[in-house]
Amino acid sequence: MELTCLRVPPLGTNCYFIVSGTSLAIVDPGGAADALIQVISEKALTPSAIWLTHGHFDHADAAGKLKAHFGIPIYIHRLDAPMLENAETSHAAKFGLPYNGCEADVLFEEGDTLSVGNETFTVLHTPGHTPGSACFLSGNTLISGDTLFRRSIGKFDRENKDMMKESIRRLLLMDENIRVYPGHEGETTIGEERRGNPFANMDWEWV
Ligand SMILES: [Zn+2]
Ligand SMILES: [Zn+2]
Repeated sequence: MELTCLRVPPLGTNCYFIVSGTSLAIVDPGGAADALIQVISEKALTPSAIWLTHGHFDHADAAGKLKAHFGIPIYIHRLDAPMLENAETSHAAKFGLPYNGCEADVLFEEGDTLSVGNETFTVLHTPGHTPGSACFLSGNTLISGDTLFRRSIGKFDRENKDMMKESIRRLLLMDENIRVYPGHEGETTIGEERRGNPFANMDWEWV
C-alpha cells in the first residue's frame, strides 16, 4: 500500500491517496477537485471511492465533483451524511466560504470494512468532533480525521466532551507503533501522542 498526503485548500486539510496497484481511494479531498483530477490523471490511477472521515466542508467540498467526474461513490458515517448537504450543515457558512453540496452513497458504521485494491481498512466510529467522525485503520496505519492530531485534538462542543474524551482514550489505548495520519498538520504515532499529547491525561473538567 502507498499512502500519499496532499495538503488541500481552503484550510490546509490533509487529503490522503491510498493506492493499491493502480486502484485509488481518495480520503477527504477538501476543496481541490480540479487539482486532484489532474494528479490522478498524471499518475494514471483508477479511483474507486471517496472516503470521508467526517462531514466538514474543508474535508468534503470536492467530493461531489470527484464523484461526478469519476462516477465513484462517496462513503461517510451515517451520522455525518446530513452535513454534506449545504454550506450551513457543513459549517462552510461559518467561515464565509462557498461549499459544493453532495450526497453520500454508502453509509458506514463502526466495524465496517472499506477496501481498495488489496487493502482493507476498518472503520472506527470516534464521535466528538462531529457526531459521525470516523478513523480508518489498516495494520499499523490509522487515518484519524479531525479526532486526533499531533499534540492536539479536534475542536468539539462542550456537550460532546464525554464522547470526545472516550474517542481519544480509545485511540491512545491502541498499539503504540501505529502511525497516525491526521486531517491537519503532520503525522505522528499512538505512542508519541500517549506520552506527548496535552489531552492524553488531563483533567477535562475545564472544558
Ligand atoms: Zn473537522
Ligand atoms: Zn478539518
